[in-house]
Amino acid sequence: MEKTKVVIIGSGPAGYTAALYAARANLEPVMFEGFFSGPAGGQLMTTTDVENYPGFPEGVTGPELMELFCKQAQRFGTVMHREDVESVDLSKRPFIVNGKNRSYEAESLIIATGATAKKLDIPGTREGEFWQKGVTACAVCDGAMPIFRNKPLFVIGGGDSACEEGLFLTKYGSHVYVVHRRDELRASKIMGDRLINHPSTTVIWDHVIEKVEGSKVVEKVTLKNVKTGEEAVHEAGGVFFAIGHTPNTAFLDNQIGLHDNGYIKIVPGTSITNMEGVFAAGDCHDHVYRQAVTAAGSGCMAALEAERWLSAQETSHEPESVHS
Ligand code: NAP
Repeated sequence: MEKTKVVIIGSGPAGYTAALYAARANLEPVMFEGFFSGPAGGQLMTTTDVENYPGFPEGVTGPELMELFCKQAQRFGTVMHREDVESVDLSKRPFIVNGKNRSYEAESLIIATGATAKKLDIPGTREGEFWQKGVTACAVCDGAMPIFRNKPLFVIGGGDSACEEGLFLTKYGSHVYVVHRRDELRASKIMGDRLINHPSTTVIWDHVIEKVEGSKVVEKVTLKNVKTGEEAVHEAGGVFFAIGHTPNTAFLDNQIGLHDNGYIKIVPGTSITNMEGVFAAGDCHDHVYRQAVTAAGSGCMAALEAERWLSAQETSHEPESVHS
């Protein structure tokens, strides 16, 4: 089995940045970019224009940005495998990382597997229908697209994300409707109040979206009252899922500390997990900021912390000097 100092699992902004820093520190990192679990490059591969990544005043598409990240990490010698990690064995060191086609013994591990936005299987929202043609799962990433300008926009959910995304979308839509399946928000009081009191938002309580229709892009939604069963069709320019994310941590099989919601526990302000030599970067531990730029920053932290940890290990294994 091949051996390496550091394996990076996952290839979004966090993973590529960790690879860049680890490679520049001569750690010769090996990265599993993922494949079936999601495209190499992570969530940004499914977005269009990214206008809030610093350094790109004219914006950049998500896939272009990830290609640049990837090239920069490769330039300094990161070994990349476009395959998924199926399991890890963290019971002893070196850790074992089992990819679909190859395995590694790794002295340290950086987990940067991200999170996946939850979607609902509503007719009209699927890939090949109106997914990315008016239906998305990230208002902050996609909200500024011209197709949403001055149109009625529909957000699904009742948590902080739905409130935040609903408020964010008021900058673009003619009016924002937040469709919630219950008669009470899950969101924090402050966020809920902000949403409810905003003049350009309306919460549609006790409703779900049954169907999304249009010609080339979204044009209408069918809403259903879950209490009465009554249905109504509304003009719509966009539908945004804001029903939470699932961190991609199942493959860890609970071998490191996870919160109840599956996010990796870290020492606050660091990338350090409860397992020595295992570091976490990006959305697999961060359910608050979830931005490309914060993920990239956390990838940098993970690589620096892995490097320090590895050199501390080497120092502690050096033979003690002999005094005559
Ligand atoms: P969340 O709190 O889990 O809320 C998910 C919402 O989606 C809930 O209202 C839920 O309805 C609804 N939902 C779930 N499945 C659904 C389904 N099948 N059909 C219809 N509706 C469905 O997720 P989140 O809003 O993404 O927040 C996640 C975490 O991040 C929270 O801890 C939150 O506080 C935090 N966050 C914080 C901020 C901030 O402070 N600025 C911003 C965003 C997120 P029910 O209520 O009926 O279950």
